[in-house]
Amino acid sequence: MAMRPEDILVPTPAGVCCKLGGFHIDPTRPVERALITHAHSDHARAGHGAVLATQETLDLMRLRYGENFAGSTQAAAYGESLALGGAKVTFHPAGHVLGSAQIAVEAGDLRVVASGDYKNVADPTCAPFELVPCDVFITEATFALPVFRHGEPGGEIAKLLRSVALFPERAHLVGAYSLGKAQRVMALLRQAGYDAPIYLHGAMEKITRYYESRGIALGDLRLVSGATKQTLAGTITICPPSALNDLWTRRFPDPLAAFASGWMRVRARARQQGVSLPLVISDHVDWDGLTATIAATGAGEIWVTHGQEDALVHWCGTRGLKARPLDIVGYGDEDDEPASGEAEA
Ligand SMILES: [Zn+2]
Ligand SMILES: [Zn+2]
Repeated sequence: MAMRPEDILVPTPAGVCCKLGGFHIDPTRPVERALITHAHSDHARAGHGAVLATQETLDLMRLRYGENFAGSTQAAAYGESLALGGAKVTFHPAGHVLGSAQIAVEAGDLRVVASGDYKNVADPTCAPFELVPCDVFITEATFALPVFRHGEPGGEIAKLLRSVALFPERAHLVGAYSLGKAQRVMALLRQAGYDAPIYLHGAMEKITRYYESRGIALGDLRLVSGATKQTLAGTITICPPSALNDLWTRRFPDPLAAFASGWMRVRARARQQGVSLPLVISDHVDWDGLTATIAATGAGEIWVTHGQEDALVHWCGTRGLKARPLDIVGYGDEDDEPASGEAEA
């Protein structure tokens, strides 16, 4: 008898579940066995029995949650297939943050790919997105509206460097999510030839040092806490978005707030958050990337999670693809809560 996609993965409110293999993917509640796509806190939670993820995701979870974040752990290498019960699972790079993976689940002659969060553009801090042909593609929809076109990150970095050159007396503070975005902004600055020290908010130190330990060169990094107000004139500091509106900014001379996020495409949003230099740099795929990737997977059926599900489901319909939103409660967007802050901020 032919397999149906639902025989492989079933959406539940706690995340997609593979009964055949006895596991959940990115569960939002504690489960016996979890496969985790990446270490952002809405996908990677503490308290599962067994966790299977890439080595980097396991290490980052350990950094955030402590040694006992799971009953047991197992590292999965990109491209290596594992048999779990009646299913075969393989992790493939998702291009989102260090260690991020798409998880392909196969049984019979069907392949379902849960892509987690992903982007299809170059990022010097992680392995590039790999296109995995499949029958069912599970995609995020964070920026699934035609208005979201991220453009070239290099152009946004050039904008930042022009502002630094224009205001040598001011300190530039760049709000960037602590896991992934912050390190990508540092690496992009280095790619652009910026070789002055980059200053770090203390909340980013552990994760940034971990990136360096995995061979990602980020140049001369210094902690803000060790610097005087005078030294910080003309410099760039990377901080959690929540710190931009914090008393913490008082230690800087005439601070100028920048924010690196896909949401910065929306001017009103930048204004509302007091950001004078919006930088459209996203670790999520944009509208063109979403539609191109969906088409390229060859999948006939698309399951859509967190974000603008309706627009993407509608687009799939116009292309003759079967599509449905998955109502999983608890996925968010790491850039989307600058005011309330982050776990480690
Ligand atoms: Zn993420
Ligand atoms: Zn997500």
